Amino acid sequence: MTTTAQLPFLPFSRPTIDEATIEAVGQVLRSGWITSGPKVQALEAQLSDYFGGRPVRTFNSGTCTMEIALRIAGIGAGDEVITTPVSWVATANVIIEVGATPVFADIDPSTRNIDLDKLEAAITPRTKAIIPVYLSGLPVDMDRLYAIANKHKLRVVEDAAQAIGSTWRGQRIGAFGDMVSFSFQANKNITTGEGGCLVLNNADEARLAEKYRLQGVTRSGFDGIDVDVLGGKYNMTDITAVIGLGQMAHIDTITSHRKALAQHYFHCFGADFEANTGAQLPVADTENSNWHLFQIILPERIKRADFMAQMLQQHNIGIGFHYAPIHLFTLYRERGFTEGMFPVAERIGRQTVTLPMFSAMTKADVERAVGAVKSMLGE
Ligand SMILES: *Cc1c(COP(=O)(O)O)cnc(C)c1O
Repeated sequence: MTTTAQLPFLPFSRPTIDEATIEAVGQVLRSGWITSGPKVQALEAQLSDYFGGRPVRTFNSGTCTMEIALRIAGIGAGDEVITTPVSWVATANVIIEVGATPVFADIDPSTRNIDLDKLEAAITPRTKAIIPVYLSGLPVDMDRLYAIANKHKLRVVEDAAQAIGSTWRGQRIGAFGDMVSFSFQANKNITTGEGGCLVLNNADEARLAEKYRLQGVTRSGFDGIDVDVLGGKYNMTDITAVIGLGQMAHIDTITSHRKALAQHYFHCFGADFEANTGAQLPVADTENSNWHLFQIILPERIKRADFMAQMLQQHNIGIGFHYAPIHLFTLYRERGFTEGMFPVAERIGRQTVTLPMFSAMTKADVERAVGAVKSMLGE
């Protein structure tokens, strides 16, 4: 027996918060102003710079950003919104939340993102918007996506929750396109604990985003106040915004380190891994992805729950899975979705596992993870 169980726990994700950020949070807490204020404005300004000067507004989750984007686009009852069945359930829940109808299109087996041919085939006269997801940070073919959207006059709400730092033809995801939503949840490449931001097209959309995030309120002068749309309570606090500022300081290093870790994964798995084991590696993208996740598809002979349990018990490595197909959840079955509708999503949803990938990880950690996976799959 090896003694790998004595090695420290290696999770699939772990946030890194530097001491300067912890100190800055303390300063906000001592300042007398802890809700939305100057730190939120500073973070929005910095994000706007990062996304090529487009308007950006922050929120308290990456979920409400998408819900608000749908509201800004005027999506509601009677409208259909097309998305992928392989995402965090938030992506489809927000469609239901605004009263619209979620429609799924199956995924591409190699990118694991929505298959754009199937997306186009799912468009009906009631389709009003599409929500593509860039799983693990890998964008879809953005040229094709916007060609389809323009041809059919559809709004696009990009669920780029996992894709901060990803690019397409050298441009950052978020720096172009329609509305683009990011999440700063704890596992994401940069985090505020919980939070999110939405990149918008113009000042009118930004004003509407401000209303939807705070009870629909518009203020003027010392005591002017009106409410003309139904908003909610979705504002970010200065406590979390200052964490975001501390994270943004490292975004480029984080992205390049993750790319290097991904390349090391491919190097360690080697050219024969797929043929020898029947497992499937991700697309070996060295250009566009921010490598939010490193996911492999297990061969059918391996039960995922057993794999996860043994990786933990024998190797002290935490394995995640992203994601169970949304259409097979009870809430969605009750809306008429059934097994067999999206076979690629169902197969990948059953066999996908997420290996460790986070910015404080080392190449030795990658070697340890690959060694453990190979021993589990009998290579
Ligand atoms: C994290 C995530 C979300 C939700 O973001 P929250 O900030 O947790 O609300 C939505 N979609 C995808 C693809 C995600 O990874």
